[in-house]
Amino acid sequence: MPIFPQYLTPEQEDELRKIANAITAPGKGILAADESTGSMGKRLGPIGVENTEENRRRYREVLFSSPDALAENVSGVIMFHETFYQKNKDGVPFVKVLQQKGMIPGIKVDKGVVPLAGSDDECTTQGLDGLSERCAQYKKDGAQFAKWRCVLKIGSHNPSYQAMIENANVLARYASICQQNGLVPIVEPEVLPDGTHDLYTAQKVTEQVLAFQYKALADHHVFLEGTLLKPNMVTAGQSCTTKYTAQDIAKATVTALSRTVPPAVAGVTFLSGGQSEEDASINLSAINAFPGRKPWALTFSYGRALQASVLKAWQGKDDNVKTAQNELLMRAKANGLAAMGQYKGDIQSAAAGQSLFVEKHAY
Ligand code: 13P
Repeated sequence: MPIFPQYLTPEQEDELRKIANAITAPGKGILAADESTGSMGKRLGPIGVENTEENRRRYREVLFSSPDALAENVSGVIMFHETFYQKNKDGVPFVKVLQQKGMIPGIKVDKGVVPLAGSDDECTTQGLDGLSERCAQYKKDGAQFAKWRCVLKIGSHNPSYQAMIENANVLARYASICQQNGLVPIVEPEVLPDGTHDLYTAQKVTEQVLAFQYKALADHHVFLEGTLLKPNMVTAGQSCTTKYTAQDIAKATVTALSRTVPPAVAGVTFLSGGQSEEDASINLSAINAFPGRKPWALTFSYGRALQASVLKAWQGKDDNVKTAQNELLMRAKANGLAAMGQYKGDIQSAAAGQSLFVEKHAY
């Protein structure tokens, strides 16, 4: 018995590395369309569309049947279980629709955020039971990567040691199970933007959370080249009165990542976290343009910041599908440029400047 039993075969490692690199190819990022049924209700409600299975399917068809040009900037799409097995109006499974356009299907595998008993309103994420079997099935059905989201909150005594160690470990267990089933795990320890804290506090907390995360991934022997990190950008709290520039945010974000994320990690795919569409693009561009040490791809995995204008344009009406798809193409283009540090803030969208912040955001 070797002291370090083989975790993955070289072939398994190669497969994971290739998927992770394809997702983070230059100028490309992820469309996070994995809102749970409840979260879809919050997206469809404001545009007057009832949250039924068929309306959720119709909405996802708007996204996935966009012109092929979408694949120039969107390499992968994360789906919720229901969507993963839905079909377009012609009966073609969404997984196949995406594959035919050259986009990689991904799947959210966590089962939601739950309270962490004994903590001050902190939480963990559940879903490890049966995860290996679910991953094997998703892989067979076309998924190449997975997502699991944990959330950490900033408060006078938070995030606590209990929350940081628990969330880091559950993400590491999930990552290990994904890799053994051929799925690239997106590791998402999101530090929420709720609060009055300043940029420096957000940076220190993000550094600490990521340090716990990479210790746990090492403890679980996770193959870093076959992983993606999905962190928050380092921004001040939503209710902080000090205003910071995109350059301040870029510096704080790159500094935090460079201190904690090993160069072996394939890529960093930021969540938008309630930033407006335009801020999410401008900040990503500033991060890529920042002259610090950045050994990984730095790109997007946006939900709200890729979909707010689409929803606003669609309004549930078939007549608006083309306009809505055009909004998606424009935001994808803006973020593709931003992923290369080249977005100049010159692409207009229906909801570009609107804040997408949701208190204690669930997904
Ligand atoms: P937002 O970009 O809306 O923050 O969501 C991304 C995501 O996938 C959160 O888990």
